Amino acid sequence: MINIDRLLKNLKDIGEIGKGLDGKGISRLAFSKEYYDALRKLDNLARSKGFDTKIDKIGNLFITYNPNNKGKFIMIGSHLDTVKNGGLYDGALGIFSGFEILETLKDKKRHLNHGIILACFNAEEGSEMGGTFGSRSICGNNIISDEFKEKLAFYNLTLDDVKSCEMNLSNVVAFLEIHIEQGGTLENEKYDVGIVDGIVGITRYNIMINGTANHAGTTPMNLRDDPIRKLPNVINKLYKEAKKFDQPFVMTIGNIIIKPGMYNVIPGSVEVLTEVRDLEQSNIEEYYDEIKKFVKADEKLEIYKNIEKPSVKLDENIIKIMIKTAKENDYNFKVMSSGAGHDAKEISKKIPTAMIFIPSIRGVSHSPEEYSKPEDIELGVNLFYDCVVEIDRSI
Ligand SMILES: [Zn+2]
Repeated sequence: MINIDRLLKNLKDIGEIGKGLDGKGISRLAFSKEYYDALRKLDNLARSKGFDTKIDKIGNLFITYNPNNKGKFIMIGSHLDTVKNGGLYDGALGIFSGFEILETLKDKKRHLNHGIILACFNAEEGSEMGGTFGSRSICGNNIISDEFKEKLAFYNLTLDDVKSCEMNLSNVVAFLEIHIEQGGTLENEKYDVGIVDGIVGITRYNIMINGTANHAGTTPMNLRDDPIRKLPNVINKLYKEAKKFDQPFVMTIGNIIIKPGMYNVIPGSVEVLTEVRDLEQSNIEEYYDEIKKFVKADEKLEIYKNIEKPSVKLDENIIKIMIKTAKENDYNFKVMSSGAGHDAKEISKKIPTAMIFIPSIRGVSHSPEEYSKPEDIELGVNLFYDCVVEIDRSI
């Protein structure tokens, strides 16, 4: 059994750094002073407990417990940075759950076949270089361009600094991340934990409805080339096609930009910002193709794809071990996909990876109101511990 009081104390101690004046929100932005203060505090804590630590050039911290020294490792971890005015749990819960695993193993004098590396990643939430920068860099998954180099300079970093962070992961047999759900499903459906089988893909596109801007007073109704008239059709089509797919497929119209957007001007154009997410990449593509066909049929419509981040399926073998462990311990669990990106998504491209979700109360995250109940955390981290031991035994 893990020590939930110790875990929560460590978590709350770190949460004191970067706390806002209201005493609630926490800002530990990537590369900020607060981020590095927290990193050093955790580094000191780890060393005081006798663990080996290493901080790389981009602010990732690795804490290792490796009493047997057999040269094979299991990596666990999450991110230490937060959004601006974020909460206590997003990212940090994964780190302090991992730290609790190390402490529990050490207390029990448990010598596993694998060393355990706790990875504390920087810049998951985003920086000039985009999200999951820390985990992307250890995998060597960055796309190198002149623009990328310029962005690094913003943080006084060079390409060599980033390259020096790349790790040889061939001796790491698995990566596990524990994270708050950031959705309300587990709480709502009364599950103890979620076992995550994949991370959804995200495709974003803009649909343009073109018209002709003109005077709102002097242009008769029958002579208008008004793009707003077509807007309901576009919206209806987007929703109608979305209905054909099951959970976790989601479609969101995040904004509708009407230009020029004045009382007295018939708009010249309307832009519909659309985002689609699903675990099955083929569904995302099928949906997009259907919308593209609809757009092509009308010369006033255009579509531009903005972002395409394919979905990732996590490792079947590790998920199987986790499900077996959860069943043996009578957990009420849900196998589910993640609607948000995580470090695990990057790492999964290099190492067999899986995730555990802890229920988030009312699904709130990226907010000072973020909360997970101690009893839910305790259940989740105990399962996490058992999974690490089982993976160690069976891989
Ligand atoms: Zn997170």
